[in-house]
Amino acid sequence: MKYPQTRKCIDRITPYVPGKPIEEVQRELGISDVIKLASNENPLGPSPLAVQAMVDAAANMALYPDGAALALKEKLAAHLNVPVESLVVGNGSDEILKLIAEAFVDSEDSGIYADPSFSEYAYVLRLMGAREVAVPLVDFTHDLEAMAQAMDETTKIVFVCNPNNPTGTIVDEASLRAFVDRIPEDVLVVIDEAYYEYVDDPSYPQTVPWVLERPNVVVTRTFSKVYALAGLRVGYAVANPKLAADINRVKEPFNVNSMAQVAAIAALADQAHVQKSVEVNRQGKEYLYAEFEKLGLAYVPTQTNFIYVDLGRPSADVYQALLRQGVIVRQGDPFGQPTFIRVTIGIPEQNQRFVEALRTLF
Ligand code: PMP
Repeated sequence: MKYPQTRKCIDRITPYVPGKPIEEVQRELGISDVIKLASNENPLGPSPLAVQAMVDAAANMALYPDGAALALKEKLAAHLNVPVESLVVGNGSDEILKLIAEAFVDSEDSGIYADPSFSEYAYVLRLMGAREVAVPLVDFTHDLEAMAQAMDETTKIVFVCNPNNPTGTIVDEASLRAFVDRIPEDVLVVIDEAYYEYVDDPSYPQTVPWVLERPNVVVTRTFSKVYALAGLRVGYAVANPKLAADINRVKEPFNVNSMAQVAAIAALADQAHVQKSVEVNRQGKEYLYAEFEKLGLAYVPTQTNFIYVDLGRPSADVYQALLRQGVIVRQGDPFGQPTFIRVTIGIPEQNQRFVEALRTLF
């Protein structure tokens, strides 16, 4: 049989490896009590106000959403102190990254990102048929000097994941500003701040004001992490109004559903829930650091809600053994670091379950 041929660039796209779903582990291993510390979700769940907003909105689902997500953009604009015109709202920040590529990246272009980092950067470049340039991290952190050196006349876009997934490290304000200042104005700099709210290092840059001063900088954030709405898919970009308009041109008319829009508005208004989530994360982080130290395991200090841990031996076996005890984490192989795991910081019961399971193996 002869099948239709996909576009050539599709051959290079490998499927995204998500955290293993709880139901799958329950089914495959026949165990009921499973916890997932694999996808950097907020273990407290969404704000009750967001849940109520969804319940209230449920009866209106016959109607199309506001394609411009104006009510949400107005709240975000006030929250971030930027004009409404500088915002793009997407079906998760995944979609935002894709929209940026669709709007700006041609097949003769190339893009630069760190390695290991979030896999979506490679994916969107491959989708556009563009060339990817992966620049290794140094000390688990972006090597901005090497990334700047890697630029050539084909470079159209540079991704900086700050904090970085999977390592949890940040680049500081002085380094990032100097880097951005080196990038020509016709090359996009995408600063992915999915874990922004968790950062407590005072040297972390406040980049939103930068985008208004520059023609080529986009900051992306999400409601999936601290706002605990990963299942609804809402992310956003802040860019200068010309850039935001260009990105908005390629989006689907109704890319963010109305349930997601009302829930995001309510979640944004509940900053007490955000603070509580950050505090629970901070305590979980301290607990896990102490336990890793007791077990003699090296970890990368994190600015996020996950920790990258070096087990000092292949993590694939440990990953499987943890699964059998009902604990789902991420193994390091897909990140090219097969002795590492990445574990999401949970609530105390989850962290204890994880540590107890780990203790049986070390
Ligand atoms: N950026 C980073 C660094 C992430 O880790 C994630 C989530 N895995 C995303 C973006 C995408 O998140 P979402 O599409 O849920 O907004």
